Amino acid sequence: ENHLISQLYAACEGHETRNFATFPARASVTFGELFAGAERTAAALVAMGVQPGDRVAVQVEKTIEAIQLYLGTVMAGGVFLPLNTAYTVPEVAYFLGDATPRVLVCDPARRDEMEQIAGAARVVTLDGTGLGTLTDAVVGRGRFEPVPRGPDDLAAILYTSGTTGRSKGAMLSHDNLASNSLTLRDYWQFTYADVLIHALPIFHTHGLFVATNVALFAGARVVFLSGFNADQILEAMPQATALMGVPTFYTRLLQDPRLTPQRAANMRLFISGSAPLLVDTHEQWQARTGHRILERYGMTETNMSTSNPYEGERRAGTVGFPLPGVEARIMDQGHEVARGETGVLEVRGANVFRGYWQMPEKTAEELQADGWFITGDLARQDADGYITIVGRQKDLVITGGFNVYPKEVESLIDDLPGVLESAVIGVAHPDFGEAVVAVVVPEADASITAAAIAQALSVRLAKFKQPKQIVLVSELPRNTMGKVQKKALREDYADLYA
Ligand code: ATP
Ligand code: MG
Repeated sequence: ENHLISQLYAACEGHETRNFATFPARASVTFGELFAGAERTAAALVAMGVQPGDRVAVQVEKTIEAIQLYLGTVMAGGVFLPLNTAYTVPEVAYFLGDATPRVLVCDPARRDEMEQIAGAARVVTLDGTGLGTLTDAVVGRGRFEPVPRGPDDLAAILYTSGTTGRSKGAMLSHDNLASNSLTLRDYWQFTYADVLIHALPIFHTHGLFVATNVALFAGARVVFLSGFNADQILEAMPQATALMGVPTFYTRLLQDPRLTPQRAANMRLFISGSAPLLVDTHEQWQARTGHRILERYGMTETNMSTSNPYEGERRAGTVGFPLPGVEARIMDQGHEVARGETGVLEVRGANVFRGYWQMPEKTAEELQADGWFITGDLARQDADGYITIVGRQKDLVITGGFNVYPKEVESLIDDLPGVLESAVIGVAHPDFGEAVVAVVVPEADASITAAAIAQALSVRLAKFKQPKQIVLVSELPRNTMGKVQKKALREDYADLYA
């Protein structure tokens, strides 16, 4: 049997004639049609020479054919390797060199450039309407018996977002994906009665594995949108039951007067992740819709590790508890810290990846022999067990020998009237090693000044934590997942004290 596909087929048994997906300007697709198309795609991939363990690299728009390509690759025994559609040709060249795929599926507009860098990979195309040479090769093929694959065989290599450095290929097994999908489906109580609004990209773990896999394993219906679009999301909401989004989805929707309790009346669940959700956003969302956003935490390497409860208190500013089957501990210098203390979060469980592709040393450093994976995120746990992500270890500022957690300073700044959001970074400084620098976005029309922020912080923070400089900007640099790019900010301000 094919571990992931067999479990998926078992989960969807009896749902073949139910609708799985709608895409903009396309006819809706049933589960039976989804799987039949995936099997045809698998047959086409095998005809192109894909053998068990071969990588299939994919840089395409969001279509039902792209979802079928994911499932078809896994059915063929291959390893699905999606790439951010924003990556330029030289960036894609790096990933191809690293992953040496058998097949590269790209947009027809890029075909010629891709041929130049594809190496031994066969290049086929798929466009935003589902057409291309891949589709030509798929049409007319028949049923396909999924290639046998075990729980530990690779199903995907997903590159990390590259927030802290060069993206790393996380090797994910069949059981990494299957186990986490089933856990999340049950924890969040997804059933075939659900209708999920899907406005995330499908090259990242959030949109591909959290959203798509959970819906698939629940037999739920999905309203796929090509990206974030407030009009489309608000239009879909009265008939939908769930939304999975990054925090920027929620802050942007809050700016729209059409967001009302009536519009959200049919919804049962709003989920947020991939970046920290501000307490303020959580509270405003509850005031506007009556719903408490459920925040969860995960990463490319681990799928999802913690979640606020479905029933029970969803505590703003926290990412909840370790999921069933996932262990978590917070460590400092080889020891677990006391409740309330900050340390590095480690997780262990069936969700944890098999290592970084072609990076045995990095894998050995972060994925320990006893199965505990060092996430690189700083966290603390409150008296009731709720975990809060304090930030990334790499973003910790060490100034004059003292540790400053950016989140502590950011939270105080964000609470000031007239401040929309902020990012606190460490910048090289001749005396202090690093200096604390705050980059602050004022609210529209607010008249807040750097001096007023400094004044407000001076009575709230120890001197060493106070920013040496406060810079006002109109927005923070973010990637497609809404993650603040602190690396880019550090580069921007690198010469501040040079
Ligand atoms: P790279 O590893 O290449 O630097 P990345 O860590 O941003 O990039 P992802 O795997 O997409 O790549 O993101 C995982 C990270 O996102 C986590 O390690 C954590 O820092 C952050 N994250 C995810 N969910 C949350 C959340 N709910 N709150 C705070 N941070 C979160
Ligand atoms: Mg990471």
